[in-house]
Amino acid sequence: MRILLVEDDALLGDAVCEGLRQQSYVVDWVRDTGAALAALSTSSFSALVLDLGLPDGDGLGVLRWLRQNGRATPVVIVTARDRVSDRIGGLDAGADDYLIKPFDIDELGARLRAITRRAQGCAESVLTAGDVILDLRQRSVTYLGAPAPLTAREYAVVELLMRKSGCLVTRGEIEEELYGFDDHIASNAIEVHIHNLRRKLGAHFITNLKGRGYRVENVR
Ligand code: CA
Repeated sequence: MRILLVEDDALLGDAVCEGLRQQSYVVDWVRDTGAALAALSTSSFSALVLDLGLPDGDGLGVLRWLRQNGRATPVVIVTARDRVSDRIGGLDAGADDYLIKPFDIDELGARLRAITRRAQGCAESVLTAGDVILDLRQRSVTYLGAPAPLTAREYAVVELLMRKSGCLVTRGEIEEELYGFDDHIASNAIEVHIHNLRRKLGAHFITNLKGRGYRVENVR
């Protein structure tokens, strides 16, 4: 899952990036509203973590821009403002959740999972495709009843393909989900992940339509 973090505090931003990456999120971090709008205009994110007090304006402006442009990307506001009126203002502007600083990074991770599940109309937290079972809450995969030793990026590929069950997912879409702006992507990176996943989860788990994309079928 790829997250956009909008936060001007260097220490907190570092901590959130590191904490979310440990929970297998891909995180892009920007520090003001201008950079946030630029990132949102060019990339797609599974969710936003949004600070309100930013050097060039109010984070609520980013949220309003999203909603005015018909973008339903889930948003968690994180801010030191703890007045009830601030909270109501944020939720009214279209935020999905709210955390008051300081907050626990594991709680932020859990809330991100909850709001992205809701956004994808998927209240279920377990998805099954044949012998492969994906637990969205634990962020784990079992194959033939045993835990599958997946890397964070392999897990992200499985989650993306299973959430989009039956749809063809292009290599570009997978790259966008797995890699942030600053990551170097080897030209065969996705093929390598797919190859390893077939080794770990069975040769037929992922269907490859030559040159067009990848698909996992029959997800329940
Ligand atoms: Ca701030």
